[in-house]
Amino acid sequence: QVIPNIRSIRDRIKLVQRNINIELKAGIYICENEDMDVIRCCDRARVACISIKKMYDLEYKIYDEELGGTLRKMQQILDNLDEALEKKYIQGYYQPIVRAYTGKVCAWEALVRWIDPVKGMIYPNEVIPVLEEYRLIPKIDAFVMEEVFSKYQQQMRNKRESVPVSINLSRIDFEVVHLASFIDELMEKYDCPKDMFHFEVTESALMENPQFILEQISKLREKGYQIWMDDFGSGYSSLNLLKDHQFDLVKIDMDFLRDFDTTEKGKIILRHIVSMIKNLNIHTLVEGVETLEQFEFLRSIGCEMIQGYLIGRPMPFIEGLECI
Ligand code: C2E
Ligand code: MG
Ligand code: MG
Repeated sequence: QVIPNIRSIRDRIKLVQRNINIELKAGIYICENEDMDVIRCCDRARVACISIKKMYDLEYKIYDEELGGTLRKMQQILDNLDEALEKKYIQGYYQPIVRAYTGKVCAWEALVRWIDPVKGMIYPNEVIPVLEEYRLIPKIDAFVMEEVFSKYQQQMRNKRESVPVSINLSRIDFEVVHLASFIDELMEKYDCPKDMFHFEVTESALMENPQFILEQISKLREKGYQIWMDDFGSGYSSLNLLKDHQFDLVKIDMDFLRDFDTTEKGKIILRHIVSMIKNLNIHTLVEGVETLEQFEFLRSIGCEMIQGYLIGRPMPFIEGLECI
């Protein structure tokens, strides 16, 4: 009986929406034990709902045992976040970005890692979606920024050369924090120049609440920060975003490199995307480059920057590491 109800609410929502597209999804927990706490029942229904968030063809999900494991993992992340930040189990790793023509490092990307003393390395894909769901991701991003800026200051004091560092932002950061002033204050605290830090915003973050985020992005650009669009081509890329708004660089998603040896399709698409973006006066970077053949191909089509395991994996900050 629940399922026809969900469908009918969905249909009613479709009737009233005009410019925005709201999809209703439902998580269901069938409570068999009447003594069970209502909050726990709701948590389970919520986890079921979150689990189908990106699955556009599913409208509901019933909680099952497998999701129980997911719920426990989520709870652990939420329970241990503050301690992990405090004890520096969470830290930035850095992956080099090179110029395709010279092969020289021209930037680093800061990628967060959670190194738990018992569980070992926990990767962003496990942590970030949970913290985004609970709107806690600004804690991590503020931490990464502070680490990057303070390390930069340290490097300058030691008179080491430096290249820019790019920092990933989440859609939630824009919603929860007044980013432009938050970043300004931190930069001032560590006496950092604006042209040494770039901010990456994923294509998908720009799809969900575009107007609001795009306004904030132009504010950051006006202040002198570069904005890089991350994962271009991975979702429902809107070419209008590139037409109507200015980005400094587009990072083309690594998925186009998949099956590089067996099909020409990815290469054809890459060639045209790179050329289109360059013609729009935006810099180009392809990430996820793992082989020399891929590197040579990308250089031959005029892609400006390259990032990937071929050049270097994300690595911990080592004191004096060249160029950070
Ligand atoms: P991203 O920003 O698109 O970063 C690229 C991801 O691809 C990284 O995964 C990186 O380790 C991985 N990668 C780099 N080169 C290669 C390669 O040659 N082959 C393959 N297969 N993978 C490669 P990671 O570090 O697990 O991060 C995943 C995503 O999590 C990032 O994707 C980014 O969207 C997000 N993220 C990471 N750190 C942060 C952070 O501090 N804040 C926020 N908001 N998001 C973050
Ligand atoms: Mg990125
Ligand atoms: Mg990316």
